[in-house]
Amino acid sequence: MTPVISVHDLTKTYRVGEVDVRALRGVSLDVQPGEFVALTGPSGSGKSTFMHLAGCLDRPTSGAYLLNGRDVSSLGTRDLSRVRNREIGFVFQGFNLLPRTTALEQVELPMLYGPAVAAMERHARAIAALQAVGLGERLDHHPNQLSGGQQQRVAIARALVNKPVLLLADEPTGNLDTRTSIEVMGIFQKLNAEGLTIVLVTHEPDIAEYATRIVAFRDGRVRSDRPVAVRRSADTELRNYELQAAEEEVA
Ligand code: ADP
Repeated sequence: MTPVISVHDLTKTYRVGEVDVRALRGVSLDVQPGEFVALTGPSGSGKSTFMHLAGCLDRPTSGAYLLNGRDVSSLGTRDLSRVRNREIGFVFQGFNLLPRTTALEQVELPMLYGPAVAAMERHARAIAALQAVGLGERLDHHPNQLSGGQQQRVAIARALVNKPVLLLADEPTGNLDTRTSIEVMGIFQKLNAEGLTIVLVTHEPDIAEYATRIVAFRDGRVRSDRPVAVRRSADTELRNYELQAAEEEVA
């Protein structure tokens, strides 16, 4: 199978004034279709830089990057943004929704930038994407009428509406409480079970265990790369959380 991400000896050096900051010092990594990878590591270890390169938001200083078999490491800005739009969905810690825009319009937006999609189909696809994340009843709500978890679900629907080959999520549960974090990880697990390839950055060890594989970064390199031995199931965790909450209420 062609890996979704295949990077070889990837480096990224930022020039800050007179100083070179070597954010990535030679990362080699394949992510196969259907994998769910959690990237962990201390602050400054290169996770965000890797996600930027993987997401075609920036170019490496050296090394190769094949996205779905295509060499994207030396594409120009315009080609890079085209690839990004068509192939990659992004979810961020801060949701990044537009304030005075309904859930439905937020999710329709990416279809205005990609290949032409007729208005009716845009509408239908956005509704389907919102239904898939359990927000079919909230199409006309603005972000300030939605909880944090609901806003993140709108962002996930927006990320998926162009049917990307890869979903990149940068600390997607960083602004969410425990229960809502489990729910969002449940959505990722469901999407992954349907075949979506996911790479997620997190500094929380328990969140990483919802993935199938954990890649730990340190000082711009991969320090360890291992399958998750005992994977967390969001369904089970949610049940346990609710049982515990009920017990606490009785006590
Ligand atoms: P992480 O996401 O693991 O916290 P980063 O990839 O953000 O790590 O950072 C890796 C290193 O690169 C850090 O030393 C950081 O200060 C530096 N760095 C990241 N982005 C930039 C940038 N745009 N300009 C200069 N230095 C940067």
